[in-house]
Amino acid sequence: EMTATGKHAEIEVYDEKRGIWVNVSVDPVFNSAGHLEGIVHIMKDITNRKRANEALRESENKFKDLVEKSNVGVYLIQDKVLKYVNVKYAEIHGYTVEEMISKLGPENTTHPDDWASSMESMRERTAGQSSIYRQFRIVTKSGEFRNVEVYGSLTLYQGRPAVIGTMLDITDRKRAEEALENERQRFQTLADNAPFGMILEDKDGTITYINPMFKKLFGYNLTDIPDGKTWFRKAFPDDEYRHKVITTWFDALENTARGQQRSRIFTVIAKDGTKKEINFIPIQLSTGEHFINCEDITDRKRLEAQLFQSQKMEAIGTLAGGIAHDFNNLLMSILGYTSLMLMDTDAHDPNYEKLKVIEGQVQSGAGLTRQLLGFARSGKYEVKATDLNELLAKSADLFGRTKKEIHINKKYADDLLVVEVDRVQIEQVLLNIFVNAWQAMPEGGTMYLETRNVFIDETQSGLFPLKPRQYAKISVTDTGIGMNEETQRRIFEPFFTTKEMGMGTGLGLAAVYGIIKGHGGTINVYSEKGKGTTFNIYLPASEKKLAEDKVVPNKVLKGTETVLLVDDQEAVITVGKAILHTLGYTVMLAKNGKEAVEIYESNKEKIDFVILDMIMPGMSGAETYDAIKKINPDIKVILSSGYSLEGQATKILERGCNGFIQKPFNVSDLSRKIREVLDS
Ligand code: ADP
Ligand code: MG
Repeated sequence: EMTATGKHAEIEVYDEKRGIWVNVSVDPVFNSAGHLEGIVHIMKDITNRKRANEALRESENKFKDLVEKSNVGVYLIQDKVLKYVNVKYAEIHGYTVEEMISKLGPENTTHPDDWASSMESMRERTAGQSSIYRQFRIVTKSGEFRNVEVYGSLTLYQGRPAVIGTMLDITDRKRAEEALENERQRFQTLADNAPFGMILEDKDGTITYINPMFKKLFGYNLTDIPDGKTWFRKAFPDDEYRHKVITTWFDALENTARGQQRSRIFTVIAKDGTKKEINFIPIQLSTGEHFINCEDITDRKRLEAQLFQSQKMEAIGTLAGGIAHDFNNLLMSILGYTSLMLMDTDAHDPNYEKLKVIEGQVQSGAGLTRQLLGFARSGKYEVKATDLNELLAKSADLFGRTKKEIHINKKYADDLLVVEVDRVQIEQVLLNIFVNAWQAMPEGGTMYLETRNVFIDETQSGLFPLKPRQYAKISVTDTGIGMNEETQRRIFEPFFTTKEMGMGTGLGLAAVYGIIKGHGGTINVYSEKGKGTTFNIYLPASEKKLAEDKVVPNKVLKGTETVLLVDDQEAVITVGKAILHTLGYTVMLAKNGKEAVEIYESNKEKIDFVILDMIMPGMSGAETYDAIKKINPDIKVILSSGYSLEGQATKILERGCNGFIQKPFNVSDLSRKIREVLDS
């Protein structure tokens, strides 16, 4: 055929026998006349070239496959036009390869906010930066935004610069990262704002984190307490206590399973030296770190203790009140008869001194019930607007006269606010405190008395259980032996005493506490062992004008009026009648309220005044008082009682009752009370 056409021809044939490829070329040779003269056959062994070509095609196919089937998006872009994308690239965008190549430019698939920066990096790449890594958002066919990560490099395509690169869909990874970051931030916020102190310590004891509350609670920074050891040393400076803490601490950790918690309460010394009761909740994390929660329960503990204390007082008060009532009526007849006998006995009589001793003993007994009644908080009877300076001066002078070894230093506020108090009771309070101060200074010393007005507002009133308002404050300071903390905690408890048998009853401060509470005030104590003690008493100020006290001479005063004595106790009636007779009065008797009203009704012209018991079965003292007052609003009534429920006596006195006398009383007490009422 070649020969026939006379043209150059070539053929590649495979020589099976020898296993080689041969290129056969045929060229006609013509003579000068243009006639075919012959044929040149050239045979070339082209096996090597053939193999190389095949290898190239194979590798091309391989790479094409790799790109086509890759799980990474691959693209080639030139002049903002996509020249090539693989299936994955199209898939990420939600399109087919054809759609991407023919219809879309990158501006259609890039998030509008990321377009500008996209173009910028494209420019940088074509300008020479060979490869650039970038993250941005794309818009898919369905309009969804996805996060992608692109790695592009500069290349030549059809002789001109282009960018070839890969694209990874990192939306899920990004979301996970964001979720993680959110989580981290949430925990950070929690830790930063937690009402608890938090501290994180790693396995080798290094403290890696403390939250702001922790810093606030203890004042320590991470630099102050780089590790657990330093923390223990600073928070628990007392060696013995620290060892105890450390032992319990590690014991708790060892015996607590991972993730479990068990709390411990320890007393921590903060950086500024203040003591705090802290509830620690250590948790061992699965990483081996220790996570410790610290809750400040100082206030709660104090409130609990206060509550417990006041409940205890309440219970004992109720008990004491019950006893005091019967006991005082009993003492009433003993004291009454004794004082009557004393009146009839000459001072030289051998029995005179014995009777005096009985009288004195009964009066001590009555003093004891008075103390008991103090914290029964029912002993507030005759409340009068009072100048505390005057009361304090009077009590202090009386006390100072008998205790010459004590120097008394006074600093009274000129403008001290008036308070409404039962003077007898406040005198009792002062006396109890003075006696304690004196006993605390066996070698003598100084007692400082100070009065001051203080306003306690909302924020301060948390210190004491007080309503925010103006208070008159009395401070009594001694330079005596002082007390340790343990003692200070217990001094207001009834029957708590550190004194030897016979020296103390433990009732003094319990009574003080009860009386001050009963007056709507409060008392606190500051003391240091070996240095001395200060008691501060706060009493609510009043707007009332000072009430003048009628001065009655300290002797037996007689009279001739007619009295109606009302009491349910036979013994009291008998002794009362005898005393009143002795004093010159005409006596009428009634054993209960009903009888009293009847007798008064039919004798209202004759009866000048009434002595009325408060607590009687049936018609009470209060009801009797009202009934008699109804008959004659001007009748003078003296209330008498061994004990009255909280405020009862006060209420009757407020309704205009003229006076109050506490049982037991002796002849002279009663005689003066009667004159005080009748002559005013
Ligand atoms: P008593 O005086 O009968 O012991 P108190 O109730 O008056 O009972 O006082 C209770 C305890 O408080 C006392 O035993 C004493 O330990 C302590 N105390 C009270 N006042 C003082 C003081 N001024 N100085 C030192 N300790 C005091
Ligand atoms: Mg005492």
